[in-house]
Amino acid sequence: MSTTEKQTRSWKAERVLDGMGKKLSRQITGSLVACVHCGMCTESCHYVLANPGDPTYAPAYKADKIRRLFKRHHDWTGKVFPWWVKAGSVYTDEELEELKDIVFGRCTNCRRCTFSCPMGVDLATFNRMARGLLVSVGIMPEGVAVVSKDQWETGNQMGVLKEDYLETLEWMEEELQDELDDPTVSIPVDQPDCDVVYSINPREVKYDPRTISDAAKIFHVAREKWTMASEGWDMTNFGLFSGDDALGGSVASRLYEKVNELRGKTLVISECGHGFRSTRCEGPNWAKFDVPFVMESSIFTMLRYIKEGRIKVDKSKNPKPVTYHDSCNFARSCGITEEPRELLHLVCEDVREMYPNRAENYCCTGGGGAMSMSEYTRERLKSGVVKANQLEATGAEVVVTSCHNCVDGLTDVIRHYKLGMEVTQLVNLVANALVIEGKPAHAVVPGLEVEAGSNAQA
Ligand code: SF4
Ligand code: SF4
Repeated sequence: MSTTEKQTRSWKAERVLDGMGKKLSRQITGSLVACVHCGMCTESCHYVLANPGDPTYAPAYKADKIRRLFKRHHDWTGKVFPWWVKAGSVYTDEELEELKDIVFGRCTNCRRCTFSCPMGVDLATFNRMARGLLVSVGIMPEGVAVVSKDQWETGNQMGVLKEDYLETLEWMEEELQDELDDPTVSIPVDQPDCDVVYSINPREVKYDPRTISDAAKIFHVAREKWTMASEGWDMTNFGLFSGDDALGGSVASRLYEKVNELRGKTLVISECGHGFRSTRCEGPNWAKFDVPFVMESSIFTMLRYIKEGRIKVDKSKNPKPVTYHDSCNFARSCGITEEPRELLHLVCEDVREMYPNRAENYCCTGGGGAMSMSEYTRERLKSGVVKANQLEATGAEVVVTSCHNCVDGLTDVIRHYKLGMEVTQLVNLVANALVIEGKPAHAVVPGLEVEAGSNAQA
């Protein structure tokens, strides 16, 4: 950059532009140069569909706000012919704030537009890069700052204290002992040499501990040799949302190191799309960690138990019509679409497909950490009309999702559009459908019915 530009640019703007040069992987650069502005991705974005006639929500329009900086500072075309390739720069903190509102407030990094692009442009990849650059100079939504700080300092993104976490596990253990009338049922902590180390989302401790007791019930009935960890138990990773690779690596390392310390054979990740993607797919790269154990989503674990005959289920215990919402991170980013459906059909009587579905499903509106960014709630809920219409068309009473983030996003959409649907997860339905030896097949265990709003976040 020229001397004149340096003199008139804020230090934050300068640092963002310099930092971009260090983040330009082949994948990001490919996406930044490949767009031919054909517009084929436009209609794939739920923000566009909810705001007809407003071109500023189009994926290519949003992407160009980042691309212009790349072109001006890191691509020869923009250095030589800036007017031709629409290259541009940023100079002030106000301009960075405007960019923040686009990359955090108008895109959930859901990657649906990527699937419509003939050139393979992956906006979410460089949108995340832009988020990370802004975060590096302290420009971010307040919620992102708070959650990131919690995860840096306490090791979990909801700031759950160790004593509260352990107390919750004890409480769930006692509940389960009462419920099954079996004092030997336990939620083991820090047991070495187990076949399964079970990691969870802190939301489960804080707002939805029943998912922990349901999982424990399944492990108990399957006679699994399992444990939870007293530290390094949070499988979520706000680094995926904030674009902060250092946070991503630190969080993932805590988890991996704890499993290694316990000599666990398989790390089972409870139902969470971004948690699974962060831990299983991105974490080893961020943390530069050679993971020696197997990492598996609990969807696969539960399905395996049924197939191996380790647990028996009775689908008549879940008679309400259900539909499945594919989390963006599971379906589009990890290709997991069939296993949750297979499991759902085994434990529910009436399963109805949502359209579009699988990799073409629309975001719950809460992706990319959007639930933590209250300043954009109005826009988020407006974009939720697309999801609301999809849900309503199924005629289902219950929407099932394998993601805690989606539970919150869907609950908010359902409440806002007054759909009157329940939201639940596979673990709740599997636990409810369990046939436990010595108990009649059709008896619903008291307190474990799937209830309206049971997963609603406070
Ligand atoms: S479909 Fe791809 S090439 Fe076409 S405008 Fe969208 S991002 Fe650009
Ligand atoms: S990633 Fe999702 S929210 Fe972002 S522009 Fe593409 S379709 Fe829209």
